[in-house]
Amino acid sequence: MIEIIILIVVVALVLLGVGGTMLLRPRGMHGVRRSRNRELDLTGSMPSVTEDRDTGGSGTATATATAPPAPPAPRPAEPTAPPRPALEKPPPSAGRMVRLRARLARSQSGFGSALLSLLSRDRLDDDTWDEIEEVLITADVGVTPARQIVSDLRTQVKVEGTRTPDEVKGLLRAELLNQVHTEAPRTLRTQRHEGRPAVILVVGVNGTGKTTTCGKLARSLVGDGETVLLGAADTFRAAAADQLQTWGERVGAETVRSDKEQADPASVAFDAVSAGIEQEVDVVLIDTAGRLHTKNDLMDELGKVKRVIEKRTAIDEVLLVLDATTGQNGLRQARVFAEVVDVTGIVLTKLDGTAKGGIVIAVQRELGVPVKLVGLGEGPDDLAPFDPETFVDAILG
Ligand code: GDP
Repeated sequence: MIEIIILIVVVALVLLGVGGTMLLRPRGMHGVRRSRNRELDLTGSMPSVTEDRDTGGSGTATATATAPPAPPAPRPAEPTAPPRPALEKPPPSAGRMVRLRARLARSQSGFGSALLSLLSRDRLDDDTWDEIEEVLITADVGVTPARQIVSDLRTQVKVEGTRTPDEVKGLLRAELLNQVHTEAPRTLRTQRHEGRPAVILVVGVNGTGKTTTCGKLARSLVGDGETVLLGAADTFRAAAADQLQTWGERVGAETVRSDKEQADPASVAFDAVSAGIEQEVDVVLIDTAGRLHTKNDLMDELGKVKRVIEKRTAIDEVLLVLDATTGQNGLRQARVFAEVVDVTGIVLTKLDGTAKGGIVIAVQRELGVPVKLVGLGEGPDDLAPFDPETFVDAILG
């Protein structure tokens, strides 16, 4: 009997032991799954960072990727990706031309001081007035405006009689300001409207500084607190899209581009505007190619870009980029572009590299649209809203 009882107890103990193991096993498996899950969670957060890196990431996506939550205990053996450079915070556009005034004054001082010294001569005879006209023409003011300035100054000098150096400077300042003035406002239209981004098309001959201007302008807009999307529709020059993307990445602006060489610029422009509308950015900035083989080529290409964009939304600004160092040649280019698209503003680049600031007057007259921005160097923040008073004061020293 005792043996039977012992047997029953032993069997019961054995059964309990197996059951206990079975009960524990699911708990153990669950633990493994959870840790696997945690592993999955970890790797799940990594691709979004890597993906962002691969695509060159931008905008808020990039900003998010730069500050991920601290990962729990990274595995030491894994190679670490190089740190992403922090987004730059560009300065706002206001007051930039004043900051760059010294650079402008350096390049234009010859022009200003030649005029001042001629006007300060004791006798202002016909020869002196001819010399004044010549200085103005040499500075690219243009023949008609130069004659107009001389005629106005002659009248003023006759009326005023005496001429102290300050009076001469005052006269010249007023006359130049009068010539630089335009009725049309110089402010860029960069506000969202009807629930859509402002669209700026940047046109001009290759080499004038178009892509650089797009990059600098994107920076400046970001500095003013706007969100920007770039469209790399200059598909003709292979490096242009990379160049634009690099500018954008520095300030967190996404670039829409095509990976196909010689892709259709109009389709890139369309995609960029569509992305801008979807992402609700403030401004879409589109860089275009400036092949100037014939006017018809240009008209075909830019005309198509314009038509295609307008299927999605209105174009708010067409900025024509002109290289200030190219003088009359630049003016000829400007004329052709103005026949093809409705230019709303001029960007005069490389004004730091020429003493021919008179081109501001000539080009405004030629096209009947204001200079809105000036490029005063190759640095990222060397693009400024054009301010006539600062410009004229820089010329006169
Ligand atoms: P694109 O072919 O018209 O797009 O011309 P890029 O943007 O590639 O510019 C051509 C060259 O002009 C580059 O070396 C720029 O750094 C230079 N550039 C652009 N704007 C200015 C400027 O305002 N001043 C100076 N000095 N150089 C400039």
